Formats: sequence, structure tokens, C-alpha cells
Amino acid sequence: MNRHVNLPPSEEGKKLNLSSQKNDQFKAVYKRVENCDDLYEFECLYSPEIDYGEKRIIVPLTSVYNGYERFSKGTNFVNILGSSNDKPYDEQKAKKRWKDFAQLANITWECHAEKDKFYDRQKIDIPATGKDFECNGVDDNGNVIDANIVGGHVLMETTVARELKKDSNAYIIPICKRHNSKNLPHFNSNNKNTTPGNGNGFYMKLSSDTNVIKISGYVPANKDFQ
Ligand SMILES: [Zn+2]
Repeated sequence: MNRHVNLPPSEEGKKLNLSSQKNDQFKAVYKRVENCDDLYEFECLYSPEIDYGEKRIIVPLTSVYNGYERFSKGTNFVNILGSSNDKPYDEQKAKKRWKDFAQLANITWECHAEKDKFYDRQKIDIPATGKDFECNGVDDNGNVIDANIVGGHVLMETTVARELKKDSNAYIIPICKRHNSKNLPHFNSNNKNTTPGNGNGFYMKLSSDTNVIKISGYVPANKDFQ
């Protein structure tokens, strides 16, 4: 069963002026924070064909959309790490919607990480040796491979992949599947206390100046949907 909650639009959400049809199309899924009944954490974009169960709420994207921010080429960014061992819902199903939504913020649908570059926390530039370190967002001719681009959940201007902090925004940027969450043994071996294979241990740099979408990281529960 999916729990749809109709929250009012944010200030930035209002500015989008979405038709009611688009409003129904763009929804976000928030998951109840463990051991905390009154707070929900952003998880993914909603796909109608998925059953998200009792622990999640589905809200209009316009209610949690906080606009976009422009960052310069070379800005550091990292993947947001999942907060539990739950298997995250497959975002591939929602990819088309993220692509449509990115257009609203004038963001091109391509991998925005420097090609083939994964930086580690010691600021060593890891060269692209072997398949693991190859960006898979473009083909050999430089054409974007649409199927490999996802809306990555990231934190901007930091080099440490971590969980989302309370009261902060999640940033969404198109990146390739490999930059999004590739299991890279090179990095994970250095980070034994954290979940392997979800973008942990490395950071990336923007390949060009770009806008990045901002989404409220958390939604407090109210009496309507506790
Ligand atoms: Zn990439």
C-alpha cells in the first residue's frame, strides 16, 4: 500500500507552475527514520508501479523542491550514503521522470562528474585503470548513453561521502551509474566500518558549470500521516 500525503508546495515549488498532471507525475518517496516516528528522510523519486509499504510516504515533489543552485566546474561532490542496510528501491524506474524534472532546472542529462575520475580522501587522483574506473555515461564516440544516467543523490562541496544530515538539502544531479554507486574495492578496503558499494570512499568533481537540484532532506510527520 502506498501512503500518499498531500503537502502544500514550497516557495520554489510554486514557481515551477506545474500542471496538475505534472504534479501527479513528479512525486518523492520519504522513508521513516529508524527509531524516530516523526521524521521521514528523502529516499527516491516515486514510481507508480512500486509498492513502498507502510514505512514510507509519498509527497508531491513541488512540496520538497527547494530550487536549484549553480556550481562551478571542479566543485567537489560525493554520493549520499544510505542510512541502513535496506536495499534501496530501484531508481531506474523513475529515471525518465528525473530526466524530465532536470529539464525544468535547465540541467543537461549527462554524467556531470569528470570523466573516468574518482578521487580518494587522501586527495590522490586515481587514474582510470581498468573497467572499474571508467565513467559509463558516454560511448566511444562521446555520445551520452541515456540508459546509464541516473539522478544521483549527492552532497556538494565536500569530499566525504556520508549520510544526509538533519535539516539539510539533498542535491540531485545526473551522473552515470558508475559514478553514482559503483562498488569500488579500492576505496571500500579503506573504509571497513561503512557499507560497501554505494559510492563510499571517493569523491568527484564537476566536469563543467552546472545547476544542481535541491530537495528537502527530511519531512517532519504531522498528525495526518504519523
Ligand atoms: Zn560518470
